[in-house]
Parts: sequence; structure tokens; C-alpha cells
Amino acid sequence: MLAGLVGRGIALSRTPGMHMAEAAAQGQGAVYRLLDMDAPERRGMDLEALLRSAEACGFDGLNVTYPYKIEIIPLLDELSDNARAVGAVNTVVLRDGRRMGHNTDLWGFAESFRRGLGAEACEHVLLAGAGGAGVAVAHALADCGVRRLSIFDTDTDRAARLAAQVTANRPGTNAAPLADALGLGGRDRPDGIVNATPMGMAKLPGMAVPAALIAPEMWVADIVYFPLETELLSVARARGCRVLPGSGMAVFQAVRAFELFTGRKACPERMRATFDAF
Ligand code: NAD
Repeated sequence: MLAGLVGRGIALSRTPGMHMAEAAAQGQGAVYRLLDMDAPERRGMDLEALLRSAEACGFDGLNVTYPYKIEIIPLLDELSDNARAVGAVNTVVLRDGRRMGHNTDLWGFAESFRRGLGAEACEHVLLAGAGGAGVAVAHALADCGVRRLSIFDTDTDRAARLAAQVTANRPGTNAAPLADALGLGGRDRPDGIVNATPMGMAKLPGMAVPAALIAPEMWVADIVYFPLETELLSVARARGCRVLPGSGMAVFQAVRAFELFTGRKACPERMRATFDAF
């Protein structure tokens, strides 16, 4: 496997380690390169030039991260259904001269959710954050059986756009923007909460969800994974909620990308062990 991660400021990514260790465990040779567009050797290089050189070098595929997940779309030949629904691509398979875009963030969150919280009630869920990751998470929640999705974002237009997008793409789910998360108290309380804002990251401490909303019967998931135990998860755990950290989404998006690049099944437990070892 020859693959790479395209983005900016990606020096600390755990993705190359997960792919290379998984390939090695399967007895396969693998090179996974960090293709940091901020690196001096790529100064002035655009995405199309990078894609052309990856193809010329025989890359099987690329992972794509901030800030290119949308910008890359017009440069691709085809999109998977999930990538088209979300409107963002985080994995590109390069095969037979064609560029196929996928969104494995969606499947990554869905798989993490099914394994970690699959038995929990999920009729009504509150999603905080309607940005790049929030779009994938919203579709994943719909795929996991959420019937009512309340979307809260400080950018109210974004929340409204995402609600309309999910309802159009996943008609079984009724999504609506929410002006104030505390509006969901009392009998309208959701079964679970997902944080897809950057709040809780080491560099952005705090919580996007008001603590007053969190009740012991709820489950709470975070997609932030640095740190793994965010303030939100810690408050929820202390109240007796079932919690799901962001590492699962990060691992499973890589599991699916590995399978797309190589055509071989990946071992999620092994990839998680590599992720945890960093
Ligand atoms: P983004 O900037 O595209 O979107 C963040 C959204 O959150 C924005 O719409 C913003 O308005 C909203 N927001 C910020 N603070 C808020 C608050 N206090 N209340 C309500 N809304 C608020 O970012 P993104 O790419 O969607 O990433 C969000 C987080 O998800 C990041 O911390 C990132 O590290 C994490 N992430 C994790 C995974 C994973 O695999 N676990 C994958 C992608 C992103």
C-alpha cells in the first residue's frame, strides 16, 4: 500500500501509524506519507498538482483533512453516496486512472456508535456542532436509527442548513435547528447528546452543551479525542451516563479507509491498539 494524508498542520496525526502497523501485521509492505501542504517543499503547490504527482508515483489513495475535504471534490471523477450526501471527502481511492471520493468519517462515527452505544435509546438526539465533522455525524446518527435530531450551533444558519440537508438525504429522520440547547429540558429531553464542536479540545477547554441538560438516563458521545476524556464526558460520567469518546470515530474512519485502499479487511482492535499507543 502506498498512501498519504493531505492537509495542513498534520504533524501529530496518528493515521500513518495506524495504516502502517495494520499493513505490517498483515505481512504487507506499506508506505503512508504525511503530505503537509504547509511544508516548505510544497509551497505554491495546489491540490490538483498534488493529486497528479500522487497518481504518477502510483499511490493507491489519499486521506484528506482540514482544510481540503470540500475543495478536493471538483478534482474527483466520482463520489460515493455518503460523500455526496455529506458534501465532503476524507478518502480518495486512485485506481485505473480514476479518482473516487469517499467519506469514511460518516461510517467511522456510525460504527463506533453501534459498537459502543448500539443498545441505547436513540429516538431523539441533540447534536452540538454543525461544521465539517457535524455533517458526517448527523448523517451517521440518522443511519443508526435516530428519528429526531435537534441541532445546536452558535452559527444558527449552519444548524438550519444541516437540518435541511439531513432531512432531505435521510427522510426517516426529522432534523431541526435549535436556538438554545437548554430548550430541550423536561419532557422534551433527548435520549443522547453528541458533541461535534471543538469545545473540550486541550486548546479549547469547556463544553458546548449546558451541564444542566445532562441527566443520568442519557448517553453522551464526544468526537473530540485530544484529550480523550473531555470535560463533557467527565461531567456525564459523574452523573452516571454511558459515554463514548472520540477515539472510536478516529479509528473506524481509518479502518474503512484501509479497506478501500487495499481491498483487505482491517482489524479494528489492532488499529485501536496502535491509536492508543501514541
Ligand atoms: P468546524 O470548525 O468545521 O465546525 C465546528 C462547529 O462547531 C462550527 O459550526 C461552530 O460554529 C460550532 N461551535 C463552536 N463552538 C460552539 C459552541 N460553544 N456551541 C455550539 N456550537 C459551537 O470543525 P470540525 O471539522 O467539524 O471539527 C470539530 C471537532 O471535531 C474538532 O475538535 C475535531 O478535532 C473533531 N473531529 C474529530 C474526528 C474524529 O475522528 N474523532 C473527526 C473530525 C473532527
